[in-house]
Order: sequence, then C-alpha cells, then structure tokens
Amino acid sequence: MDKTQEILLIKYGEIALRGGNRRIYENMLMDAIRKNLANAGFAGLSVYKEQGRFVVVGDGLAGAIPHIACVFGITSICRGVRTSQRTLEGLYDAALEYTKENLGHCATFKVATKRADKNFPGRSDQMSAELGGHLLAHFPHLKVKLEKPDFNLVVEIRNSIYIYSQSTEVAGPGGLPSGSAGKGVLLLSGGIDSPVAGYLAAKRGISLTAVYFHSPPYTSERAKEKVVDIAKQLAFYAGGVKLIVVNFTEIQLFLTDKTPAAKITLLLKRAMLKMADKTAKKEGALALVTGDAVGQVASQTLHSLHAMTGAADLPILRPLVCYDKKDIVSLAQKIGTFDISVRPFDDCCTLFLPKNPETKPKLSIIQNIERRMDELDEMMEKALDGAEVFEF
Ligand code: ATP
Ligand code: MG
Repeated sequence: MDKTQEILLIKYGEIALRGGNRRIYENMLMDAIRKNLANAGFAGLSVYKEQGRFVVVGDGLAGAIPHIACVFGITSICRGVRTSQRTLEGLYDAALEYTKENLGHCATFKVATKRADKNFPGRSDQMSAELGGHLLAHFPHLKVKLEKPDFNLVVEIRNSIYIYSQSTEVAGPGGLPSGSAGKGVLLLSGGIDSPVAGYLAAKRGISLTAVYFHSPPYTSERAKEKVVDIAKQLAFYAGGVKLIVVNFTEIQLFLTDKTPAAKITLLLKRAMLKMADKTAKKEGALALVTGDAVGQVASQTLHSLHAMTGAADLPILRPLVCYDKKDIVSLAQKIGTFDISVRPFDDCCTLFLPKNPETKPKLSIIQNIERRMDELDEMMEKALDGAEVFEF
C-alpha cells in the first residue's frame, strides 16, 4: 500500500464555535458536500471527518474542487497528501517527497506545523524548524523566508498527517451549512434583487421554499421559466430549493378593481406577503425573505416598508435592505442569476404599475381598504391550493 495518498483538505469556519450543536452542523455540512459531489457525478470520491476538517480521497480530486468550493459553511480547500506514517521520520520522508514534486522553481520557503493531535510528540515550532533544516539539506539553493515565501509548506498533524502547499488553497463562500438555521419562505420574482436576497439568506444556513406569484396572461410563460431557472441556480448553492408557483391573476384583477391606482402596488405586495405567510406556516418556515432595498423604488421607501406592517405574522428578513443597486448587481453576476434576471420578460408588478405610485402611504388607510375586502382571504386560499410545485 502507498504510504501517501492525494487528498483535499476542507476547512470550515463558524460552526466550530457552536458548542453542543457542533456535531450536527458538521454532519449537515458533510451531507451538503456529498450531495454536491454526487450531483456532479463524482462517485469515485469519498468524504470523511477529521479533527476540525473534512478530507476527500479518491479519483478526480482537482475537478471536484469547484463543486465543493460553493458549499456554504466551507472557508477553504487545500490540495495535498496524507501519509499513513505516524513517526517523525515518516513525516519527514513524506514532506520531502511532496516538496520534490511541488517545489517547481521556488527559491524561498517556509514550513508551518499545526499539531492538532497533542499526543504526537514534539512542539510545533521545533518541528517546523527541524523539517525546514531537513528540506534545506536536500535543496541547498532554497532560502528560508517567513513573510510571503514562494513555497509555503503546511503540515497538519491530526488522526493522520496532512501535507500541502498554502498556494493550493481555494477560498470557499463561508457562511453556515444549508438548513442549519431552519427554513424561510423566499418571495422570488424574476427580478435582480430577490435571487440575491435568497442567496444571502441561504448563506446564513436558511433552507429555502420560494414562492412566485404569476399572473397569466399578463405575465408570460417565459417570465415563469425565468423564475424556474433562477430557482435552479439558487438550488446549486442552497442544497436544493422548493419552488411554489401561485396563480395570482384573479387576486391582482380584484385588487386593481377595488383600490385607488396610487396604492395598488402596496396592496399587491401586502397580498403577496399574506400568501407567503400562509405558505410558511404550512411549510414549517419561521421567516419570510424579500429582495426589498430601502429607497430603490416607490414601493420600497421607508414609508412603504412601514405600510407592509402586519401583512405577515412571521418576521420579514430583507437581506438587501441597505445595499446599493450596483452592489446587488455585482453579487447577482457572481452567483450567476443576473443573466437570467435581465431576460426581457415582465414580472407581475411592472404591468400594473401606476403612473404616480404613492411614496408616503399611510398604514391605517391601507388597512382600512383591506378591511372592506372580505372575499380576499378565500381567494388566497384557493390560489394557494391550486399552486404548482417544483423541487430542485
Ligand atoms: P426584484 O428585483 O426582486 O423583483 P424589485 O426591485 O422589482 O425586486 P418590487 O417589485 O418592489 O422590487 O419587489 C420587492 C420584493 O417583493 C421582491 O424582491 C420580491 O421579494 C417580492 N416580489 C415582487 N414581485 C413578486 C412576485 N411576482 N412573486 C414573488 N415575489 C415578488
Ligand atoms: Mg421585481
């Protein structure tokens, strides 16, 4: 059997801080990694838990990195070797072999040792110095450089010993493992903002059920396809997404008929929040998530956001609330939803936009209008019962 084997060493961040729940979070993270690898066809790889790390072994390691680097909770991935030897001598041999293969034209170097297994004899700084001397004896042209060396060799002593060059490190997204924070209902339109809001919520460990309010024939099948494609893209990061497409036409026409034009956008948004709230209760979700950002459009002034009060019982999370549009756009580009969002098909609110929407609506007036609409609740239940459901 080979003494050394190629590996990926996966580092994770915040979950290490979470005391008693740590094991549960670690298992969720490992499941998410395994799921992504299986979906991407890496059947020949296996993932196991180390002290404070995950390790991937098997065929196709390099190709697997992008499929791991997108998993929330991971801070970075390094590529290196594992040695089955647990003596200083074995460690030196493996480090020498790894250095021979990976040193290339490097002129300066440094060794850093992390002795996570405190039963392993010796002190980390002493071992780094001794291993450095051992390598110098074999590569006399090398010079030690502690700041920004060309070759930064890391040795981690855990249940096994891992050796890698720091330059192999690929950053992960950070955040928390999918589902570790519970479930949220995302109000997902075909626009630029709500997919980014969903991404940020998922990054904090919130698993997503997305709801899209569709108004055929005023919004086209292509607008719905856009939302379906966005949900698929979000699923890539969020460890799966359930998408519920609700037919909103009847409610939209009813509200448009019964409401002064300047207030219609608010009434429509309150109706969406109410229906999302009902959905959340059925789905066991604890919060709603929207793409609102203060001041972006008339329906998102602070007055308008205040006028949403009471539409939902559950807390409304607005991850983008203080973001500038340009920052939202660059995040949308980074996560691959922007190109889908800018396909030219209207989502439901834009078609019914009044010429002069109110920017300082009063909550009490909005509530008075709603009080006169007894039929609304039944219409909402009916629309939700007939919703179309997708799982990605
Ligand atoms: P987005 O870019 O996300 O569409 P927007 O800038 O167009 O947002 P609004 O139309 O005011 O702004 O929508 C604000 C939020 O309301 C959206 O981010 C989304 O969470 C929700 N929303 C709007 N329209 C819909 C819809 N048809 N289905 C589901 N949610 C919606
Ligand atoms: Mg929109």
